[in-house]
Amino acid sequence: MSFCQTVKGELCRKTLKKECCQQAFLYAVLRLSRSFLWDGTIVTTENRGAAQKIARDLAGVCGAFVSISADYRYVKDHPLVYTVFIEDTEEKEELARRFSLQNEGIASSFLAKECCVQAFLKGAFLAFGQVTDPEKEYHLEMGAPGDVCAGEMCRLLEKAGFFFKISNRKRFPILYLKDSEQIADFLTYLGAAKAAMQIMDIKVLKTVRNQLNRQVNCETANLKKTTFAAADQMRCIRYLEAHGGLSALGKELETLARLRLENEDASLRELAAMLDPPVSYSAVNRRLKKIIEMAVQKGAKLR
Ligand SMILES: [Zn+2]
Repeated sequence: MSFCQTVKGELCRKTLKKECCQQAFLYAVLRLSRSFLWDGTIVTTENRGAAQKIARDLAGVCGAFVSISADYRYVKDHPLVYTVFIEDTEEKEELARRFSLQNEGIASSFLAKECCVQAFLKGAFLAFGQVTDPEKEYHLEMGAPGDVCAGEMCRLLEKAGFFFKISNRKRFPILYLKDSEQIADFLTYLGAAKAAMQIMDIKVLKTVRNQLNRQVNCETANLKKTTFAAADQMRCIRYLEAHGGLSALGKELETLARLRLENEDASLRELAAMLDPPVSYSAVNRRLKKIIEMAVQKGAKLR
């Protein structure tokens, strides 16, 4: 089972007890759906548990007649996809009225209490979220139906202490996190504490693995001198980001800085290979040194 399926399974097992939270959960699912107002399709997901939970809650709380279909995608070895939808037009319109879906933004009336904000975000992640296997990459994302919603979600998340960024994929905004600790904290906040712990365990393992690698890499004294610790690089890049932004670095350095931010554990050789087009190890080293110099000039402190 994928890591994302495990996370969603853990979230589905916890039921929302208060009525205010159940409303907020369902509000997220309907409000953030890209197609519900259009054709009654609420969500399409590979997660059977999530599909069932959404359908069950909608039926239980709103008395709606909800259907689920399971289809194969025409891709080899692809898991089944479940579509949750409401066929009856009147019922669809009734739900749209009840949850004021004609308004573009997120209605604060459903999010009056902190418990409801949490339930809303749980709905958003369960229906429209993904998290990548932390062994591969630290990445968590949630889709939004439009820029207004995406912006308001970002502010909501910020208030709860989570700093998502927004990008676009196939015309739709995506909110995402790349920081392992933020991802783990967010999953804990949603109620998937076990999965969050798994991320931190894997992070520790990766760090140990990296330290071993680094030791091997740093055998030569002269290499030692030129290699800045990744932590120093990260600190300097974050500092630059906060003081004037990375675009001031120029395209070449900015690209590398962002790559480093997204790949905290990568070695310089790995970073060099990831660049498009790839460059030499020494070019990456030279560029990182330059970034650090610029940060220090601007007032960043190394350890
Ligand atoms: Zn509540």
